[in-house]
Amino acid sequence: MSKPFGLVIHGGAGVILRANLTPEMQAKYNASLTLARDTGYAILENGGTSLDAVVAAIKVLEDDPLFNAGKGAVLNANGMCELDSAIMDGKTLSAGAVAGIKHIKNPITLARDVMEKSPHVFLVGEGAEIFAKQLGYSFVDNTYFQTELRKKQLERAKQLEVEKKTSASASLHEKAGFVTVPDGYFIQTSHYGTVGCVALDKAGNLAAGTSTGGMTNKKYGRVGDSPLIGAGTYASNATCAVSATGWGEYFIRVVLARDIAAQMEYKDTPLTQAAQNSLNKVAQLGGDGGLIAIDHNGNITMPFNSPGMYRGYRLSDGRNGIAIFEQ
Ligand code: ASP
Repeated sequence: MSKPFGLVIHGGAGVILRANLTPEMQAKYNASLTLARDTGYAILENGGTSLDAVVAAIKVLEDDPLFNAGKGAVLNANGMCELDSAIMDGKTLSAGAVAGIKHIKNPITLARDVMEKSPHVFLVGEGAEIFAKQLGYSFVDNTYFQTELRKKQLERAKQLEVEKKTSASASLHEKAGFVTVPDGYFIQTSHYGTVGCVALDKAGNLAAGTSTGGMTNKKYGRVGDSPLIGAGTYASNATCAVSATGWGEYFIRVVLARDIAAQMEYKDTPLTQAAQNSLNKVAQLGGDGGLIAIDHNGNITMPFNSPGMYRGYRLSDGRNGIAIFEQ
C-alpha cells in the first residue's frame, strides 16, 4: 500500500458568530479554504514536498482579504499592518521566521527564505526587510494590506479600550484593547484569523507554516505565537506538524506546538490526545483558540475552544472536509 499523505489548513479561530455569518459570506470562506487546501494538495499528489504545499496553501490565504494574514491583516494601534510568519521542515528541523514586517506581500515566502538562504532562524522588522531587499523582493506599500473592515475593527477596539480603561474589573488584556466581548461581527473577527497549514508528503516528510497580522490594536512591537518556533509553529518527522491560532500570549506560555510533539516523543501519547492536552493548558490559563496538526502516519486533529475555527483537510485515503463551526 502506498504511503499516506495529505494536509490540513486553518484560517483562524475566533470566527464570526454563526448568527452573523450570512450564507454569502460562508460561501466565500468555503471557496477560499477549498482553493487553499486543493492548491496544496495538488502539489503533494504530484510528488511535491510538504514545504512547497505549505507555502502554496498559505499564499492563497495571505492573498485573500478575508483572513488575518497578508492582505486583510488586522491593524496595529498605529493603523499599520505588521506581519508575522514562520515555517518549519520536519525532516531537517530547519526553521525560518519573520516578525513585524510591513512591506512584503507574502510573509511565508520570506520566512522560507530565512530558513533556506540565511544562517538564522528568526529575523524581525527592518532587518528582515533589508534581508528581503538583498534577495530582490519587491516591496508593497503598507496600504496594500489594509482593508476598510480592519479599519472599522481597529476603531471599535480603540473605543472599547477607552471604556475598559476606566473599569475596575477589566483585566490587563482588556485595558490594552484586546477585548473579547461576544457582541458580534467586529470583535469576534477582529481577534483571530491567522492562517496556517500542516502537511505530510509522499516521502514521509512533515512541514508546518503559519502567517498572521497578529491581534488588532497591538502595540509596542507585540509579537504573538505564530512566528515563534515551538509555540505557534512546529514540525518534526519524529512526531507531528502543528500550526496554532488564537490568543497568542497563552500559546507562547504553554509552548503549545512543541508541547504536543513532546508528549508524542516522550510518552507515546497519540496525536489527538496530545493536542487536546495542550489546548486544555491554554484554556486553563484563560486563553482561547485552536490548532491543526498531522502526524507522521497521516493522523490529523483540529481541536479548538473558541466558537469556531476556519479549517479544511484532504488526505490521500479520500477523506476531506471544510468546516467553520463545530461539526
Ligand atoms: N495567534 C495570533 C497572535 O496571537 C492571532 C491569531 O491566531 O489570529 O498573534
